[in-house]
Amino acid sequence: MSKTKAYAAHSPKAALAPYFFEQRDPREHDVVIDIKYCGICHSDIHQARNEWGDFLQESIFPMVPGHEIAGIVASVGPKVTRYKMGDRVGVGCFVDSCRTCSACQRDLEQYCEVKIVFTYNSRDQDGVPTYGGYSEKIVVDENYVLRIPDNLPLDAAAPLLCAGITLYSPLKHWNAGPGKKVAIVGMGGLGHMGVKLAHALGAEVTVLSQSLSKQADGKRLGADHFYATSNPETFTKLASSFDLIINTVSAEIDWNQYFGLLQLDGTMVVVGVPEKMVPVAAMPLIGRRRSIAGSCIGGVKETQEMLDFCGQHSLASDIEVVPIQKVNEAYERVTKSDVRYRFVIDMASLKTS
Ligand code: NAP
Ligand code: ZN
Ligand code: ZN
Repeated sequence: MSKTKAYAAHSPKAALAPYFFEQRDPREHDVVIDIKYCGICHSDIHQARNEWGDFLQESIFPMVPGHEIAGIVASVGPKVTRYKMGDRVGVGCFVDSCRTCSACQRDLEQYCEVKIVFTYNSRDQDGVPTYGGYSEKIVVDENYVLRIPDNLPLDAAAPLLCAGITLYSPLKHWNAGPGKKVAIVGMGGLGHMGVKLAHALGAEVTVLSQSLSKQADGKRLGADHFYATSNPETFTKLASSFDLIINTVSAEIDWNQYFGLLQLDGTMVVVGVPEKMVPVAAMPLIGRRRSIAGSCIGGVKETQEMLDFCGQHSLASDIEVVPIQKVNEAYERVTKSDVRYRFVIDMASLKTS
């Protein structure tokens, strides 16, 4: 075991603070990663504040959040074949799964039917709590480590490990591409990656944001159209127009309003996780054979495909880099939709903490 420096939440209401935990010694197939950057996902905040207790599980404390990890391989176990010291790598939302169920066999480990091990706020196959990326290092089985393309800066690439794949996977699954009209609801960390990726895939992209304050950025990132959902006319003007809506909003909003924006056979995919349940009405769905669906991050293979796609398109996240000492301030700003568009922690700052 080795002592590892990190930042942790000790209870749902406490500010994150410096913390040391014991990291497992590397096993034969493990990669030891020096973490250089870690993105701040809204899921980190939901879990650190125990907002998912009703749906999933009560959070495990102390919690070291962080699942948008980018770093450099420091050492590898004797049986590791995929990585070597010095490689640029990433770790996303999970670090293990059962490897044998039908979902794992189909490279859909995120839907593992037996036991998925999330990067933090989870327990590994031996029942030991997992700790995430707000930390100086992490030890991960090589099969759950991703390769970051050489042309992408590590800081801007970090958010691809969650925000990027969470939008890439449904965009691919629901065939976003030329001739398809795609709306992204909420232009935060996930949403801004949705705009970039949908545009790169060739779809016609519309952003539905609370106001027009992010309009210029939206257009710069690749949106063809930008509307404010605070203006009721948006919902009449855009009625029955989209093939696909991806809803990234982290709060309870009236989903039924958005069903009306789907054309015949259109689908709204929910990726945002509001704290409370949202009621769904039958009629707006029945009217045009519309669907509502959910989507969870992406498997290891698809995450690598997404990273390579981003490398080919020189595409990464728009970020604000912060030292770890500002993590609590960053959390407050994320909850106010005041981030352009992802906070990324510079882990070198941990040394001065
Ligand atoms: P974020 O950066 O906070 O972005 C959320 C965006 O939603 C905000 O920027 C804002 O966009 C909009 N929004 C926030 N509050 C709103 C409200 N009350 N009414 C209307 N719109 C509102 O968060 P994120 O990191 O992108 O994560 C978004 C959600 O996805 C979170 O719930 C997170 O837990 C979840 N998530 C899910 C998965 C998955 O696999 N399904 C993966 C990662 C994260 P505008 O300013 O443009 O309106
Ligand atoms: Zn996330
Ligand atoms: Zn499985």
